[in-house]
Amino acid sequence: MSSSASSMETGRVTENKTVPGPILLLGAPGVGKGTQAKELVKIWGIPQISTGDLLRGNVSKGTELGKVAKEIMGRGELVPDSLVNEMVAARLQEPDTAKGYILDGFPRTLPQAGWLDGRLAQQPKTLPVVAVSIQVDYNQLLRRITGRRNCPVCQTIYNIYGKPPQKDGICDVEGAALVQRADDTEKVFEERMRAYEAMTTPVVEHYRALGRFAEVDGDRPISSIAAGIVAAVEQLRK
Ligand code: AMP
Repeated sequence: MSSSASSMETGRVTENKTVPGPILLLGAPGVGKGTQAKELVKIWGIPQISTGDLLRGNVSKGTELGKVAKEIMGRGELVPDSLVNEMVAARLQEPDTAKGYILDGFPRTLPQAGWLDGRLAQQPKTLPVVAVSIQVDYNQLLRRITGRRNCPVCQTIYNIYGKPPQKDGICDVEGAALVQRADDTEKVFEERMRAYEAMTTPVVEHYRALGRFAEVDGDRPISSIAAGIVAAVEQLRK
C-alpha cells in the first residue's frame, strides 16, 4: 500500500508523525476534558466528540432522545448506555472521523467501552482506543465546577474564582449575560463525582489492563497539559 493510502487509515504512524486515531480523554467532572479536547483538535486537526455536548444539543432541540436525557442529566445521573451508544454510532459515521477523534465523556461505563472496542475491532484498518486520564484533586474540582460560567453566544468559558470576566456576569467578547450549566451546582457535582467513580473506574481499569492507558497531571497550564497528553498518546501508539 502506498504511504498516502496508509495515511488515511485511522491511527497509523506515517512519515514519523503519529496519526492519533481514537483517543479517549478521561477525568472527573471539571478536570478540563473539554478544554483539552479543544487544544487537541487544534494540534491534530481531528474532531472532538463530546457526548455531553451532543446530549445537550438534543435537549435544546427537543428531540426524543433529548426529552429522555433532560431529566436524567439534571439529576447528574448517566443516560442509558443503549441511547448514548446509538448517538455515538451515528456521529462516527461522519467522514471527519477518518484520521481519529477525541472522545470526551465517552465511554463512561464498562458496557460502553465494550461496545466501542467491539465496533472498532470490526474495522481492521482502525487502531484501538487509547485512554488518557487527566488528574486534578477534589477541592480544586469543586471550585472549577461551581465557579464555571459560559457565554451562550460564543461559548467562552469563565470561572468566577479563577478566570472571571472583566465585568461580573458579562461575556468580555459578546457582552452577553453569562449562564451556569444546570448541573454545575455543588449538590449535582457530588452526584456526578459519585457516578464518575462508580461507573468510570472500571473503564480506567479496562484500558489499564490492556496497556492502553496513561495519566497526566491536570493542575498546570493548559498548554503543558496538552503537551503531556500528546506525549502520552505518542508513547501509547509506539
Ligand atoms: P458532561 O458534559 O460530559 O459532564 O456530561 C453531562 C451529562 O450528560 C452527564 O452528567 C450525563 O448525565 C450525560 N452523559 C454524558 N456522557 C455520557 C455517557 N457517555 N453516558 C451516559 N451519560 C452521559
